[in-house]
Amino acid sequence: MSAPTASSAKESAQTRPAAAKARAPMNVLIVGVGGQGVIMVSKALASLAQSQGYEVKQSEVHGMAKRGGSVFSHVRFGPQVWSPTIPKGEADILVALEWAEGLRWLSFLKPDTGIFICDTKRIVPPFACLNRRPGAPMRYSRETPEEVKAHVAEGYAIDATRMAEELGNERAANVVLIGALSTALDFSAADWEKALAEFVPKKTIAVNLDAFRLGRSWIDEARIAPPDAETAPAVAPAPAHLPYSVRLEITPEWCKSCDICVKLCPERCLRLNAERIVELAQPDKCTGCRLCEFLCPDFAIRVHLDAVHVQGVAVAGSRA
Ligand code: SF4
Ligand code: SF4
Repeated sequence: MSAPTASSAKESAQTRPAAAKARAPMNVLIVGVGGQGVIMVSKALASLAQSQGYEVKQSEVHGMAKRGGSVFSHVRFGPQVWSPTIPKGEADILVALEWAEGLRWLSFLKPDTGIFICDTKRIVPPFACLNRRPGAPMRYSRETPEEVKAHVAEGYAIDATRMAEELGNERAANVVLIGALSTALDFSAADWEKALAEFVPKKTIAVNLDAFRLGRSWIDEARIAPPDAETAPAVAPAPAHLPYSVRLEITPEWCKSCDICVKLCPERCLRLNAERIVELAQPDKCTGCRLCEFLCPDFAIRVHLDAVHVQGVAVAGSRA
């Protein structure tokens, strides 16, 4: 698991003012891309706030959610809330489930007190694949967590996806972030866990509660002992300029043999096998452009751009 990367630890969770109890509403902005569970995070928070007697307003946009497009949700709660949307520069907390989406919304954070909690997960869109050579650099944010922290009052870059993977369910990454978020709000862990249990699939409650507790303890650890930027290991490097390998995850049961991905893969590296299920026939040609993932009507393909690690630590380097 990666070491925590924190910009500052101004207040412990215990001493943080209960902003939600103030007259001004608490503004939480949650962003990511389709399929990451932004709306679940937002609904769990809104439901919890409502159960504690606050007036809650929530708005969301998820037009292209099923195709990896941007998804964002504003949650505002307090004694009285007039508008469902958070004005620019007024978010108390920005929770980002994807790195570049987090950077895109930074201007919504309160400049002096805003808290930035971001998964270092990179989901590179197809149009970022500018060079059809496998391993070629992609157009994607190059900012490192250390550079971003200089622009926020308090920031945490969490390798939540890998933490969730280590728990056995990558999809629980959003709940790792909920755990981190929970330390910045004045609700008890027990109330959070109760709310979460209502919003995750029943068979995943146990792993999601583990993910929640992991996110909480990660932030507590980061606040107590922020790592030295010089010595902390790198977290989730951007495929744009660091080594990565491409991995296709195909779910055969979901493939309906429609042939769309085979026909439209720019590198012609897919084919249907004897059972008419898609397979990667020429892995060395695959650029990781993700077109197949976006075009498959049955969500049977996922493309992973894995950082190349040496002895468990991501290494920097360039691919010319
Ligand atoms: S297999 Fe998918 S990710 Fe690889 S080149 Fe073809 S469309 Fe792009
Ligand atoms: S687009 Fe999806 S369903 Fe169609 S062949 Fe490819 S993987 Fe199978």
